[in-house]
Amino acid sequence: MSALDCEVLVVGGGPTGVTLALVAAQYGASAIVCEKEAGIYPLPRAAHIDHEVMRIFQSVGAADEIAATSRTTSHYDFLTSDGQILLRFEGSDQIGPGGWPGANMIHQPSLERALRKKVSADDRLHLRPLWSFTGFDEADDFISARFETPDGPRTVTARFLIGADGTRSPVRNAAGIELDDLQFDEPWLVIDTIVHDFDRLPKVNLQICDPARPTTCVLMGEGRHRWEFMILPGETPEQVLDDAFIGRLLEPWNVEGAVTLERKAVYRFNARVAKQWRKGRVLLAGDAAHQTPPFAGQGLCAGARDASNLGWKLGLIAADEANDSILDTYQPEREPHARATIQMAMMMGRTVCITDRTAAAERDRHMLAARAAGQSPDGQASYPNIGSGLVLTGSADAGAYFPQFVCAGDPARLDDKIGAGAWLIGAGGLPDLPGVKLVALTSADLGDFLDPVRDWLNRHNAEAVLVRPDRYIFGAGAPATLARSWQSALSAEHSGLPA
Ligand SMILES: Cc1cc2nc3c(=O)[nH]c(=O)nc-3n(C[C@H](O)[C@H](O)[C@H](O)COP(=O)(O)OP(=O)(O)OC[C@H]3O[C@@H](n4cnc5c(N)ncnc54)[C@H](O)[C@@H]3O)c2cc1C
Repeated sequence: MSALDCEVLVVGGGPTGVTLALVAAQYGASAIVCEKEAGIYPLPRAAHIDHEVMRIFQSVGAADEIAATSRTTSHYDFLTSDGQILLRFEGSDQIGPGGWPGANMIHQPSLERALRKKVSADDRLHLRPLWSFTGFDEADDFISARFETPDGPRTVTARFLIGADGTRSPVRNAAGIELDDLQFDEPWLVIDTIVHDFDRLPKVNLQICDPARPTTCVLMGEGRHRWEFMILPGETPEQVLDDAFIGRLLEPWNVEGAVTLERKAVYRFNARVAKQWRKGRVLLAGDAAHQTPPFAGQGLCAGARDASNLGWKLGLIAADEANDSILDTYQPEREPHARATIQMAMMMGRTVCITDRTAAAERDRHMLAARAAGQSPDGQASYPNIGSGLVLTGSADAGAYFPQFVCAGDPARLDDKIGAGAWLIGAGGLPDLPGVKLVALTSADLGDFLDPVRDWLNRHNAEAVLVRPDRYIFGAGAPATLARSWQSALSAEHSGLPA
């Protein structure tokens, strides 16, 4: 393997590719990230990340910097044109199971800058800007990928090639992987503004379900606020991108002087999922593997989850601690979750994007009645656990998310107390397990976290729990059984390298 340029070659230096490289390196892989642009993508994109994704960024040492540039808000409302609540997602400022607020309103370029700083701090990682992927060849045990670079054509050899190269994904196309189109296609204008007077802006996230102009208004990080306006039939991108037109769209918000337009873009919001997330030595992650309308704020989040899931598996393979075929568990573990977030976003989008007045009035009647009857899905959005993959079948908690407890002490969060890697937590009798941290339930090991961790085990009636590096539960039960099963799951042939 040492003759190769790296273990993991990532095409695309967006949030997915960079996070994936950071996680893979943490677990033992060398990685090169090739990015066709010189700098970070400048147009308006993600404004929200959830608690679980902040925990992923915590795992690569970037969360504190991201949190310092983000804000939170108590809820997310879908309103009728006259301000009645159709849907409300509450509790977004509360600490979620990931140990961070449920909703973190961010500025994507600031987030990406925080991630890239971590790449430059790790000598197993290299970021190559202005390297544009053009194609690849696959041999039995490696990949050779071609790039156009400022110094002419170059080739990089690697054990695995990751397409984290966004919606159009040249890697996906070169691998001949098709998309499943979930049939959502709506054109929207998106604007980011710099805020001068926060007091004159909404304090919560809003979807205005006004058939005359469906509109999104959300908080962002780093002193910004976002509006998104649906483009109506007959309007052109040129027309809606005109500053005077945007000024008229903002008039009802009465924010003149409170904000300055910073960036604007027209997007078509789509919903698509790649049919194969792994083909031989090529894997897809982030927008290359799935695209969602932004209404649930889950596109970047899904890419970070892919990176977290795939990163430790690639790292353990590079460190010879796992069989290559654990990569076959990636799609079965991630796809149902990604599809659930897309379905949620499509449900939200179909609620918002109604421009027919009669249909909108019917929607309002139906949803207001459901809400009055207590049948609205208020609370935080929830998505499925891992159903099948690298989890201990038969264990009640297998595939569930292991929470990150938060305490007043230093460190404040469980993961910082225990550290990276898989954990085997239990009262005692924990067998030695290579590559796994043994966490005995003694105050010396867990300090302030002893009580919440012990309570978790008691509530789940579990002698011990084995938590994977991505903080999903491998299984709960007797420590010796968990240890044996974990080792055989890592070394098992899952289903071989698919053609
Ligand atoms: C209006 C809008 C609002 C959004 N809001 C949210 C939100 O609130 N929350 C959320 O979670 N998500 C949101 N998203 C989605 C989020 O922005 C994307 O899901 C996220 O950027 C995807 O990250 P990625 O790294 O997978 O892809 P990208 O960020 O697209 O990165 C892919 C990278 O690959 C590079 N690349 C492409 N081709 C090549 C090549 N040939 N060679 C080398 N490099 C190449 C590109 O230059 C790019 O840097 C929103 C998106 C939009 C448009």
